[in-house]
Amino acid sequence: ATFGTLSDRLADTFKNLRTKGKLSAADVDGTVREIRRALLDADVALDVVKDFTGRVRERALGDEVSKALNPAQQVVQIVNDELVTILGGQQRRLEFAKKPPTVIMLAGLQGAGKTTLAGKLAKWLKKDGHTPLLVASDLQRPNAVNQLQVVGEQAGVPVYAPEPGNGVGDPVKVARDGVRFAEQKLYDTVIVDTAGRLGVDAELMKQASNIRKAVDPDEVLFVIDAMIGQDAVATAKAFLDGVDFTGVVLSKLDGDARGGAALSIASVTGRPIMFASTGEGLDDFEPFHPDRMASRILDLGDILTLIEQAQQNFDEEEARKVAEKFATDSFTLDDFLKQMQQLRGMGSIKKMMGMLPGMGQMKEQLQNFDEREIVRTEAIIQSMTTAERTNPKILNGSRRLRIAKGSGMTVTEVNALVNRFEQAAKMMKTVAKGGVPNIPGMGPV
Ligand code: GDP
Repeated sequence: ATFGTLSDRLADTFKNLRTKGKLSAADVDGTVREIRRALLDADVALDVVKDFTGRVRERALGDEVSKALNPAQQVVQIVNDELVTILGGQQRRLEFAKKPPTVIMLAGLQGAGKTTLAGKLAKWLKKDGHTPLLVASDLQRPNAVNQLQVVGEQAGVPVYAPEPGNGVGDPVKVARDGVRFAEQKLYDTVIVDTAGRLGVDAELMKQASNIRKAVDPDEVLFVIDAMIGQDAVATAKAFLDGVDFTGVVLSKLDGDARGGAALSIASVTGRPIMFASTGEGLDDFEPFHPDRMASRILDLGDILTLIEQAQQNFDEEEARKVAEKFATDSFTLDDFLKQMQQLRGMGSIKKMMGMLPGMGQMKEQLQNFDEREIVRTEAIIQSMTTAERTNPKILNGSRRLRIAKGSGMTVTEVNALVNRFEQAAKMMKTVAKGGVPNIPGMGPV
């Protein structure tokens, strides 16, 4: 997955640090060197890498580390901070016009994922109580209008497209008419899909720029395929000069891009990453949170996104109860099982597991993870007595053996489940209290 290798490399780097107490300048330099290599191998732009490692080094040699109780963890914290910074710092939300409609224009190369994004964004806005209109200004690709109509239908959002014979071939006119149509029909947001080319070219830029002038958008979102690696930076710069944009959308983050584009683009363009696209379906889309992405890269897990998605799928009351259980240490194996079963209803289980902390080390298991895992978990938990489920601490050797026999599993499998439960409970407890979760194996940050 994107960032997989980078995460592993950084984890290895920190593993070496962990065994050290005080850090010498040589330790810091060695670490910084490894981080630099890991970032370069992940296709992060050289300038960004230099700035990043420069800041990490300076801070790592300073007081905040030498005076820290645990210098190694402090270094991880610094790397985390700096990752958040290069990813854009604060999350940036869409800005809505004071006087509707809010006009959002999409720009990017062909195949970047603009049309798909138009559908995702429309669906997301609609869910949020808006009344979006899609405008088909991509008249380059023969099938683009049709494709937008398909995603519009999936999203339940109307599409403004040129009538045959009326303005066909003039994307600027279609965009302008589309916005006017939205004003008349009181749509509160307009998403203008524009044409892309396979590569950056002058004509493309001019057209996009003309559309921009014609509709005076509140947001121009530059959509970039995270898989294009090193080319992302040059492409982004070309669009910055040719069209200019207010925010970036990273698409195809579900692929196995090395992540360099994501890490370079905000610094290089000075524009925030606002959304991430993570699949072909209209729901594979989320607002981009620099801090959460940084934790994901550092494998701290993306607990906040997990909780947020959970809240969207279950009622808030339930979520509140669970959070309280975590905080007060009364989270039981029954709750754990319930959570797993609920995860099943939340789309791709593998994706969700990928967001859980500590999963970096469990990559193999993750790959093999399937629904049967839930069935096994069910079997084990159901072979426990109520007392055992409520208070797993009483699970001694003979109880575990009995449970293994009862569920048809091995004691090792029972142990693994109990360990996983304990880790999850501990991690969630920290988060519920508003703390930073432990980095697996490193003790509290
Ligand atoms: P456009 O030319 O910029 O409008 O790009 P499209 O929206 O047509 O997307 C090009 C291809 O990429 C299509 O096959 C999409 O299904 C696919 N695609 C778009 N976004 C994503 C994404 O986030 N992940 C994956 N895996 N595929 C995507």
